[in-house]
Parts: sequence; structure tokens; C-alpha cells
Amino acid sequence: MNNRGMLIILSGPSGSGKGTIVRQLLKQRDDTVLSVSVTTRAPRTGEREGVHYYFKTEQEFERLIENGELLEYAEYNGDYYGTPVKPVEKCVREGKNVILEIEVQGAEKVMDKREDIVSIFITAPSLTELERRLRRRGSETDASIEQRLKIARWELTRAFRYDYVVLNDEVPLAVERIQAIISAESMRFARMENFILEVINNA
Ligand code: 5GP
Repeated sequence: MNNRGMLIILSGPSGSGKGTIVRQLLKQRDDTVLSVSVTTRAPRTGEREGVHYYFKTEQEFERLIENGELLEYAEYNGDYYGTPVKPVEKCVREGKNVILEIEVQGAEKVMDKREDIVSIFITAPSLTELERRLRRRGSETDASIEQRLKIARWELTRAFRYDYVVLNDEVPLAVERIQAIISAESMRFARMENFILEVINNA
């Protein structure tokens, strides 16, 4: 079997529920890990260094860009977010699936750079529901919520770049849909080619 893990991009507007979905998914799959991003955004209450993000100054972030240490990066709502390339490569090489929970601009950079990815766009049933979820989260100011909704509208217009669109009406259902995608993707010929060769050679 092809021993490399899958690189899975998971995007969706702020409030689409992707964080919750990823946490549930990771509980169900021990062959899958989440890439921990670097950001210049301030930590929210309860967020821990190295678990939710690596928190950096702008200067530190710029150094990571200059040294080529990021697979992608983007500016979102006035802050920088980026994916450290080394841990991603290491995990994929070791056969683990790696999830990149990233916004649309960064996702498109990865899509333009590599072919071996599975990309999934998560959406809430409506913008009204999105706003309700953002307000319930209570972590953002009114201005930040307005800004995030504006970005959300734009992000929805980029959904066509993704391989799959998953509706998050209910978290367990959304997780099930993503499980189905991972399952089908793992059976693509490119990922089964080595297995077929083994079967032929051991005949
Ligand atoms: P938040 O501030 O809510 O944690 O994240 C804001 C947005 O940045 C979310 O859409 C999240 O998926 C995205 N994001 C988190 N990490 C990265 C990253 O490494 N690269 C990019 N391009 N976006 C990221």
C-alpha cells in the first residue's frame, strides 16, 4: 500500500464549526493528526502554546517566512497565520494523515503547489446561523464578528476550488461525511498502487 499519509485541507468560514468537527474526528482516528499553525494573533482564553497555535510576534513570523519554514501563510483579519512545513512532511512520510485547518487564501496556495491533497470546505447552513454561532462563542468583539462575517461571504465564493463541500448542520453528521471522504480517498488507485504491485509480485 502507499505508505504516505494524506494531506487534508479543511477550510470554512469562522463559525462553520470546523474546530469542533476536527476534534471529534481526531478522537475517532488514531491515524490522523492536526497540524499546529503559527500565528501573530493573541491567544484566546484557554488556548495553549503548541496545542492550539504557536504564538509569535510579527518579527518572528517574518523570519519563518524568510527561512522558508512555512508551507503556506496568509493574513486574516489583521493577523498572520501559517503552517510549519517540517512537521507536516514528517507526519505524512510516517504514514499519518495530516489535517490543515486553514483559511481559503492559504489553502489555495497549497492547492497550487501540490497535487497530492484532499480539500474539504465546511459550511454552516446559512450566514444567519454562522452569526449566531460566532455570537454564542463569545470570544470576539462586535467589530471582529462583523469582519469575520464579511470574510465568510467572500470565502463561500471560493468553495468551488475544493474537492468536497461538507454541510455542518449537525456535528456528528458532518464528521460522518468527512469519514466517508477519507475512506473513499484512501482507496484511490494512486494510493493503492503499491498494494496492487505487492499482490502481483507475491502471486
Ligand atoms: P482563528 O483566529 O479563529 O483561530 O482562525 C482564523 C482563521 O485562520 C480560521 O479560518 C483558521 O482556519 C485559519 N487558520 C488557522 N491556522 C492557519 C494557517 O496556518 N494558515 C492559514 N492560511 N490559515 C489558518
